[in-house]
Amino acid sequence: MILDLRRIFANEGASLDVEGSLDMSNVDILGGFPLKKPVKYHGSVYNKSSVVFLNLFIDFEFTAPCDRCGNNASVCHTVTIDKSLATALQRQESDTIIVVPDMRLEVDELVYSEVILNLPSKHLCREDCKGLCQKCGKNLNEGSCDCDLSEPDPRLEKLRNLLNND
Ligand SMILES: [Zn+2]
Ligand SMILES: [Zn+2]
Repeated sequence: MILDLRRIFANEGASLDVEGSLDMSNVDILGGFPLKKPVKYHGSVYNKSSVVFLNLFIDFEFTAPCDRCGNNASVCHTVTIDKSLATALQRQESDTIIVVPDMRLEVDELVYSEVILNLPSKHLCREDCKGLCQKCGKNLNEGSCDCDLSEPDPRLEKLRNLLNND
């Protein structure tokens, strides 16, 4: 979607609602396709005191194996874009300003790059995922196992003996 913003730039107080979706299901992350559902966005472009602002909320669902237990999990994320738009940069480069020389904004392109930039670095099926048992591989979210994980590390054992030797 390309927004023609000439009317917004020309009129103080003018605003335009922005809403749409973007198919990113072909985005390949390490052999997986985590963005199965269309990415949705909504927000507005408005002119306030002759400055044009863009406020956009991007919602995407990330589906991939959990980093800890390996079960497939879908987690929703929201990216908020709060920037101003200008036809040229006045001073040095700024990441709070989007430059639109011809007053046209390529929304899909913007949404695409913002989602890629904000993909989760950690992906858990739930905040407190217990992961897998290091010994038997059982998913500990489904219950505990009978493994004894308190087996002492021989190096630590030596240290413990030294400390207890008083
Ligand atoms: Zn998990
Ligand atoms: Zn176990």
